[in-house]
Amino acid sequence: MARPNRTANRLGAPLILASSVFLLAAPPPPAQSTVEVYNLRSYTHPTYARVVIDIGKLREFSSAELKDPDRIYVDVYQARLNPILQGKTYVARCDYIKEVRIAQKNSTTVRVVAELDLAKVERYQVFPLFDPFRVVLDIFPKETAAAPPTVTPDKPPPAEPEEKPVKLPEPTADGYSMARQLGLGIQRVVLDPGHGGEDPGAIGKKGLKEKDVVLAVSAELRTLLVAKGLEVIMTRESDISIPLENRPVIANQQKADLFVSIHANANRNRKKRGVMAFYLNFSPDPQINEIAALENATSTKRIGEMQDTLKKIVQNSKILESRDLAYKIHGNLVKWLSQHYTEVESLGVRGGPFWVLIGGEMPSVLVEISHLSNAQEEERLKSPSYRKQVALGIYEGILEYMRSLGKG
Ligand SMILES: [Zn+2]
Repeated sequence: MARPNRTANRLGAPLILASSVFLLAAPPPPAQSTVEVYNLRSYTHPTYARVVIDIGKLREFSSAELKDPDRIYVDVYQARLNPILQGKTYVARCDYIKEVRIAQKNSTTVRVVAELDLAKVERYQVFPLFDPFRVVLDIFPKETAAAPPTVTPDKPPPAEPEEKPVKLPEPTADGYSMARQLGLGIQRVVLDPGHGGEDPGAIGKKGLKEKDVVLAVSAELRTLLVAKGLEVIMTRESDISIPLENRPVIANQQKADLFVSIHANANRNRKKRGVMAFYLNFSPDPQINEIAALENATSTKRIGEMQDTLKKIVQNSKILESRDLAYKIHGNLVKWLSQHYTEVESLGVRGGPFWVLIGGEMPSVLVEISHLSNAQEEERLKSPSYRKQVALGIYEGILEYMRSLGKG
């Protein structure tokens, strides 16, 4: 369990003015894998400004003040910054915060720095919120007309305001190609290597882990797509954990045109083998739901949130496009592998209730590239040449989908 240490500090003393620490009752073991800091948001209220560091899993953090220039920093431990946030800076819509920036301080610490105009700041507080875990920095300016909201351990902090974040970590219009600005074609692809960190995914009989295989295949695929002139963003580039539901959020923030989640399957029947692709849909098929349950296992989503989720699914107008993309990726993957290997089995394209496909605003597909539970397919997945052919098959599928848009 956590021991929250909510602090409210008053600025004024020299150099290190105040500091606070949030420690877990049981410190994480040194070998614990890092968790991903996947978002930084800021809001400006009439009476205060709020910075939210989205982490997703419980982590220790500390904060302190420094002078010259005046600033508050928050360090999150056992954490890695999603590469898309590295070095990002945000300008708050108020005169007492000059800039908020985020960076990987060292291999296991992420630091957020809020540079302030000290003369205009009355006080600040740093505290955790839970489910999902996040660290909040509230900054209260001097001389506000209304009394600033106060937060005590007995009273929950004010709800995060409804308004849009001041600045989201997303590329500027300048970063978009002309084709993309005109709404034409596919320019930016998010590749999502499944699992990672403490979640290995499926594990083969000889010990091969899904998280490692799919990362290698994704890296191969990225190389191919980049060579074709596409922008590629990976939800993870190393062995770190990212909550399932955050992966499409990354794709939305990056305004991706396609989202491809890459997985390797497992089945209790070790004879079962072959390639499948999925798009988001309800499924009455228990076998499909079994695969979805495997892939959803690490999700923190709860049944109570189902209503909200259903709404998102209904609102998702990309189901037909996703199905189309799934067919093209699956078809090309099977065709490509069959040219180089025997006994490549096609298990088809299906709709399934996969958390990682919910909420994406672009065509979104999950590919099961083979079965790790099958001895021969585990052997193949171990070899760089098979991984390369898998990447080539998915690549051909994405290209076919792009060409089909051109014809339309
Ligand atoms: Zn998986």
